[in-house]
Amino acid sequence: MSDYNELYQQIILEHNKKPRNFKVLEAPNGCSFGKNPLCGDQFAVYTKLDADGKIEDIGFQGDGCAIAKASASLMTNAVKGKTREEALLMRDEFQQMLTTEWSEQECHHLGKLTILSGVKEYPVRVKCATLAWHTLASALEGKTETTTE
Ligand code: ZN
Repeated sequence: MSDYNELYQQIILEHNKKPRNFKVLEAPNGCSFGKNPLCGDQFAVYTKLDADGKIEDIGFQGDGCAIAKASASLMTNAVKGKTREEALLMRDEFQQMLTTEWSEQECHHLGKLTILSGVKEYPVRVKCATLAWHTLASALEGKTETTTE
């Protein structure tokens, strides 16, 4: 197994076992429910933006396969402290990373998240990995639900 594959597996396992920000926010100002009917993944994402439009706190609940859950956990860590616009840009880059030819330069807002680029090898899992990001975008856009279909 290559170093990359080993790291990829480790991160998925670790975040699946101990998802970060796996909580309901008490007073969210954004909340959306997202599902991926292909796999059965479903998550609610809660966001709390401060007066400057920065994501002050974020939480998610729900269940899904290991990739979906790990990706949701990584997403919440990655966008905390970011502005709404930055988070939406990261969603676009994440989607681009998994569906098109991409370079680290193009997706430079993603940082550590590029570890999930390996999901591209499994096209059926791409919607699992992007679900949390679409649900986040939906919450930030004031929509209450979304689906990967
Ligand atoms: Zn899934």
